[in-house]
Amino acid sequence: MPISIATASQGKAEVLSEIRSKPLRKIPYPKNEPSETETPNSIKISSFFGLNVFGLVQLQSRLPKPVFENLVEQMSGNRMIDRPTADAVAHAASVWAMSRGATHYSHWFQPLTNSTAEKHDAFLTINYLNLGNCMISQPIDSFSGSQLIQAEPDASSFPNGGVRSTFEARGYTVWDTTSPMFLHEGPHGTMTLLIPSIFISYNGDALDEKTILLRSCDAVSDSAISLLRLVNLDNGVKRINATLGTEQEFFLVDRGLYSMRPDLKMCGRTLIGRLPPKHQQLEDHYFANIPSRALAAIGEAELELWKLGVPVKTRHNEVAPQQFEIAPIFEEASVAVDHNLLIMETLGKVAHRYGLKALFHEKPFAGINGSGKHCNWSLATDSGINLLEPTENPDSNIRFLLVLSGVLLAVKNHGGLLGASIASSSNEHRLGANEAPPAIISCFLGEQLSEILNSISENRDTSKPKLLLKRVMVGSRGIDVHIPHLPDIRRDATDRNRTSPLAFTGDKFEFRAVGSSQSPSFPVAMLNSAVAASFIEIEGMIKERMISQKSTDVSIIMRSVIKEVIIKTSSVRFEGDNYSGAWVEEAQKRGLPNLANAPMAFREIVSTRNSEMLTKTLDIFNETEINSRHKIMCTRYFQDLLIEAKTIRDIAQQHIYPATLKYRSMLNNTMGQVESMNSFDQVILEKLNNCVKTMGSLIQSLDVEINNTETQLDGNHNSDSAIKACEYACKNLKPVFYGIRESIDEIEKILSDELYPFPKYSEILFS
Ligand code: ADP
Ligand code: MG
Repeated sequence: MPISIATASQGKAEVLSEIRSKPLRKIPYPKNEPSETETPNSIKISSFFGLNVFGLVQLQSRLPKPVFENLVEQMSGNRMIDRPTADAVAHAASVWAMSRGATHYSHWFQPLTNSTAEKHDAFLTINYLNLGNCMISQPIDSFSGSQLIQAEPDASSFPNGGVRSTFEARGYTVWDTTSPMFLHEGPHGTMTLLIPSIFISYNGDALDEKTILLRSCDAVSDSAISLLRLVNLDNGVKRINATLGTEQEFFLVDRGLYSMRPDLKMCGRTLIGRLPPKHQQLEDHYFANIPSRALAAIGEAELELWKLGVPVKTRHNEVAPQQFEIAPIFEEASVAVDHNLLIMETLGKVAHRYGLKALFHEKPFAGINGSGKHCNWSLATDSGINLLEPTENPDSNIRFLLVLSGVLLAVKNHGGLLGASIASSSNEHRLGANEAPPAIISCFLGEQLSEILNSISENRDTSKPKLLLKRVMVGSRGIDVHIPHLPDIRRDATDRNRTSPLAFTGDKFEFRAVGSSQSPSFPVAMLNSAVAASFIEIEGMIKERMISQKSTDVSIIMRSVIKEVIIKTSSVRFEGDNYSGAWVEEAQKRGLPNLANAPMAFREIVSTRNSEMLTKTLDIFNETEINSRHKIMCTRYFQDLLIEAKTIRDIAQQHIYPATLKYRSMLNNTMGQVESMNSFDQVILEKLNNCVKTMGSLIQSLDVEINNTETQLDGNHNSDSAIKACEYACKNLKPVFYGIRESIDEIEKILSDELYPFPKYSEILFS
């Protein structure tokens, strides 16, 4: 039922007055036992960090040594897990979980929905005892190794892009031993043991994010070790991990106001709304004081996250009003992805307790900054050595250059794939706008490093003073690249480029184009894969050259290959302003893909270059999986657009139009009654009439385009018709609702405030 105008404005007033009177909760930090150094009030994060986690440390103290060793062997990929080991782990985990109040367990997995899924089972079994001519049932608490290892959810109701159809629904979740189990503290004292898992079909096809990510982590590890071994720089490492630190941006808005906005509820973003006179133009929000209600909510979310072993460290106000960022200390990539998903989930849950709603959409409000998820990425050996750290040790510096050239080659060869990995209907609003890099993937290295690479490629003697001109030295660390004609160069800690989609930030790359609402899993998996393929290519180049040049000096050959890669990849290096129009032109000249819209980007996934790399060079996807991924992304895209289109239609027809009728009738009445009303009434009325007319005719077009989009589908979303519908919606449906928005925002400008049926931007952003 449409909200009546009177109740809408009353409701707004009530919500706004409630906001002011809302008492804040006190964050329930666990207190320490008083001791010589601690008072009852001391809070030590380390004392409760990981309290709800059941990982290797907890297992080590609970399992017999040989069983624990079996598990560790399995985790390093050297053997299958055997039944006695699984049973022992399951027993230890359930005893621990029940002692903490858990009644249920669940596999916790990541279907292709950008969030997680779980299906709870109680730790309960009924045993039947046969007593001759009668049976008695006996309840027992149980959790077996096979229940720990595997579960069987129905796969057909998750996005599967044709991998499964409804009549072949079997899917399996399988325990991912590399990520620790944890307790989920639910509402009203509910407690569930969650078991991080992968999700595959009956045939073993990946139906989730994690399977792909884990495969890509293995690929980048294997290829990096193989390359480093060839050039004698491996130092005997057995594993190289992709590391990931996610900077999560989000908005917190009042939940009462949120619930009065059908667009926020249906789409996660506002489809209408004018910017208030003041928004972010005074640049007074970034790093400013965090408003108290938001700070309390973030603080309590941090507490829960620490208990879950998520190392959240940084929090700050972001550029837009009511926008914030939270960032953890980096971890091994697959655990960091699990933890990012927990960060989003926990923020969402805790925000409720404070009467707030967390918005993770990339562009919840037009005209002010949207949100991203900067994915800081590097590679580290099993002993924790960062391969992108330009150390002072000459031997490892050449390794740094080798790894760096691998990343550059990855961007050169597979920039389009990286663009595809971050494409979605929601990120489309943000990319290329004023706050985020455009959909052209390039790398920023900073002036110093660029100069080093240029000097290598140009055979320049950089000992000339030119290099050191203008340089402000900060810090004491230097870059010595072990190239005789280069001077020692100090690391310039001031290097920053906020406009680059992939920026080198001293000892890691920051993939800045990733959207705030998406799981970081896919972008990181594609980055891992592209880099793995580059390492393989570089290894091939070195081997080939050793044969053709009949050389045994791998070090000299490696240097010449690094130089060649640096030259070959110069087109993806860009140090200037990525937001500028000039870069778009320049990138075109350089032949870099500009994936201006999401459907265009999605096609990159199945382009020959990328799909061969993913399915043949590496084993990240099989043919079925890659095609299904493409269809799932297309389906999600047109479904998002259809939801938005139908929502704005309802808003326009059921809310805005009745409000304008009322105002027009008020104006007409007034003009009839008050003698010689000035022409302003007339002007307003005319404007309103025009807006309503435009809105009305656009709604008719919208109806047509909604229908056309839907008829692209042949009833089976899994077929190629999903791709057709996606491309159609982008081209024809999307432009229409922009027009509707324009006329509604114009109406907002003139309509009596009392009659506007929704909370306005000014109320949501400044409540
Ligand atoms: P910024 O100044 O851009 O906010 P920070 O230095 O605060 O950058 O780091 C941002 C994120 O990068 C943090 O999550 C941090 O843990 C992560 N990070 C730091 N080093 C690495 C690394 N070697 N690999 C992956 N992430 C890293
Ligand atoms: Mg950053």
